Amino acid sequence: MITVNEAKQRILANSKPLPVETLAIENALGRVLAEHINTPLSLPSFRQSSMDGYAIIHTDISKERSALTLTGESKAGQTNIQTLQAGSAMRIFTGAPVPENATAVIMQEHTSVENGVVIINEFPVEAGKNVRNIGQQIKEGAVALEKGTLLSPGSIGFLQGMNVWEASVYKKPKVGLLITGDELLKKGDPIVFGKIYESNSSMLAAALQQEGILDLEIKYSDDDLESTIQALTELSEKHDMVLASGGISVGDYDFVGKAMEAIGAETIFYKVRQKPGKPLLFAKKEQKLFFALPGNPASSLVCFYEYVLPALRIMSGRQDPFLRSLKMSSKYAYTFNGERDEFLKGLIENDAVIPLDGQESFALRSFAIANAIIYLPTSQNVVKEGDLVEVHLLPF
Ligand code: AMP
Ligand code: MG
Repeated sequence: MITVNEAKQRILANSKPLPVETLAIENALGRVLAEHINTPLSLPSFRQSSMDGYAIIHTDISKERSALTLTGESKAGQTNIQTLQAGSAMRIFTGAPVPENATAVIMQEHTSVENGVVIINEFPVEAGKNVRNIGQQIKEGAVALEKGTLLSPGSIGFLQGMNVWEASVYKKPKVGLLITGDELLKKGDPIVFGKIYESNSSMLAAALQQEGILDLEIKYSDDDLESTIQALTELSEKHDMVLASGGISVGDYDFVGKAMEAIGAETIFYKVRQKPGKPLLFAKKEQKLFFALPGNPASSLVCFYEYVLPALRIMSGRQDPFLRSLKMSSKYAYTFNGERDEFLKGLIENDAVIPLDGQESFALRSFAIANAIIYLPTSQNVVKEGDLVEVHLLPF
């Protein structure tokens, strides 16, 4: 049995980014840039007004001489623009080109207009006021987004504004999921004494979907060695990562460990000093990664967030693979025996975290409303109300 920290180190040491592909930006949300992107354009690429108002030459006016003749107009989208005549003001709108010789734009709200004369009501007017300069946001040729950037809606909009429509990004892992257990019922099966409707397939598919992994194949196997080997073989041929649910404990009908061995996956660790999720197994065959997750749903999901997700993120090129972690005060006291580190389902409300009721590994009720995992190492087995605890934010 290894520690939580050691297990995480082994995940880091054994996960590698996948190859790179070029994608249209509209398909690249959540992808990680594999190269710097330099902007082909300065932004803005021409001097723009940032207000609706009047373009002027600021030295034309003073408190004593605040009237200018209204001449001409510049509206957004206009592609040629007249020169501003001395002693006059040009009507201008947000985003419109500023005449080359104009030095400022006066907000409409700071003027009054009568009979073709614009009266300025606010002084002093500084040069450059309300004018967006060429390259003020970014200059042509500069690095717009660095390699390793996770593409967000903001980054995609930024690229589009620079006339960049494609990006070189890391591929996303293809994942195969094997659900094991003779007791499991699927959609449409009638309820039978001794059987349960299984939770893990939709739950893990949803967790993967949230990570942008839609390329998922799910298989089911009975609790026997042959069908487990068969399913693992098929999944590992097609996918970059294989997740198995259930069958990894020490029961007589737990065959996933033996099946992993049989297909030649090398165990990197088995059993982590943690609750829930002790029997977690991590294995590798060539560049393919295998996780055997305990069947209890809450254990499965904790192990997914704490170990599988970081591996997926590294494969996707991310450099910050773990859930975002911060310290927060606990709303309630919590005590445990301190033999294994504990992961608790938590709910952050305002600026404190509530360790939820129902921490048992078979219970999803608390996970259903949790927005965080509280991580308590064995050294912190007595938490008093208000103590700071480590909180891992769920990606919702
Ligand atoms: P196992 O890890 O196979 O020993 O299963 C541990 C517990 O989790 C048992 O109570 C199983 O019935 C339950 N379990 C296993 N797989 C699932 C699943 N896919 N959905 C819900 N519960 C499961
Ligand atoms: Mg089982």
